[in-house]
Amino acid sequence: MSVFSHPEFDHHEHISFVHDEASGLRAILAVHNTRLGPALGGTRFYPYGTDEEAIRDVLRLSRGMTYKSAMARLPLGGGKSVIIGDPKTDKTPALLHAFGRGLNALGGRYIAAEDSGTSVPDMKCIHEVTEYVTGYHDKVDAEGQARTGDPSPATAYGCYMGIRAAAQHHLGRDSLNGLTVGIQGLGSVGYRLGRLLVGGGARLIVADVNESVLAEAREELGAEVVSTEDIYDQPMDVFAPCALGATVNPDTLQRLQAGIIAGAANNQLDRAETGQVLHERGICYAPDYVINAGGVIDVYYEQSGQYEPEKVHRHVEGIHKTLTEIFERAQRENKPTSEIADTIARERLL
Ligand code: NAD
Repeated sequence: MSVFSHPEFDHHEHISFVHDEASGLRAILAVHNTRLGPALGGTRFYPYGTDEEAIRDVLRLSRGMTYKSAMARLPLGGGKSVIIGDPKTDKTPALLHAFGRGLNALGGRYIAAEDSGTSVPDMKCIHEVTEYVTGYHDKVDAEGQARTGDPSPATAYGCYMGIRAAAQHHLGRDSLNGLTVGIQGLGSVGYRLGRLLVGGGARLIVADVNESVLAEAREELGAEVVSTEDIYDQPMDVFAPCALGATVNPDTLQRLQAGIIAGAANNQLDRAETGQVLHERGICYAPDYVINAGGVIDVYYEQSGQYEPEKVHRHVEGIHKTLTEIFERAQRENKPTSEIADTIARERLL
């Protein structure tokens, strides 16, 4: 299998394949670009069916981190790592330590953080053998709540600001009062986003596969609950994908009535061309890696030892301005917002 001719290969600076026989570790670490600073990005622990799937994911995700950090104006580059295996059965301290030694070998060019399949305790465990990991510190957020490294509250707040920016640009509304937002996925980010939206006067329609979280949302947030299949057909002003990738695709676009798509999920569009379809249909799309950058902003301040809740809050709030710039430029140049975001990110990397 060739990496250099892989369709997702995009001038990545460094790719390491790390193996540890004793613990069974099989990991791939990808540093996409360190032009703006050391590469930072999560460690995904997932039972990939083939090595090819893992390579594709790490190449794609590490490039995405370069763009995300550039758009968030962070002095960081883009990187990502994947551990091949089932996090429920294969994760052991020995394996995480072996992974940490793999990070040491990169000497700080890549800093790992939490991602799907890994957790704050895992980051603490990796930290036992390396400095090149973050997302494990205890800290206090802007509301004065004690928190571990979990970046979800910052991600949710960034999405909330992003939805407000979209409502202002697309609907000329300063407030979310009376708007209906459909949230797909009420996990760490989606549920918090729901709370913020209700606080801002919005009404929620929600879907999740987890029944208990749906009951909570009905009770606490007054949300209307629909099935995971029916969420696409609901009358709503904003569709907020906060679960899976690729849920904006030709099939769902035939059904979605929302004029705004703005949520936390990574890789929301099934492929780049879908951005053009959204543009032609006059749907205001908040590019995923711009609106969901709250988490990486939070992690950056933690990792750099400058965690001040107010500073983080203000930086995350900047997502509103960045998105407004993207929406306006997209309108001026008559181009998809996804294309404009990529263009601005690349301009910042020159
Ligand atoms: P999470 O795992 O806590 O939540 C995901 C939720 O989606 C869960 O409640 C799950 O039950 C639900 N779900 C699964 N399948 C579903 C389906 N078919 N329909 C509806 N709901 C479904 O994850 P999270 O941390 O909240 O992240 C959500 C998304 O945002 C992910 O795509 C993640 O990559 C992205 N993201 C998260 C952060 C962060 O700070 N956590 C940062 C950037 C991007």
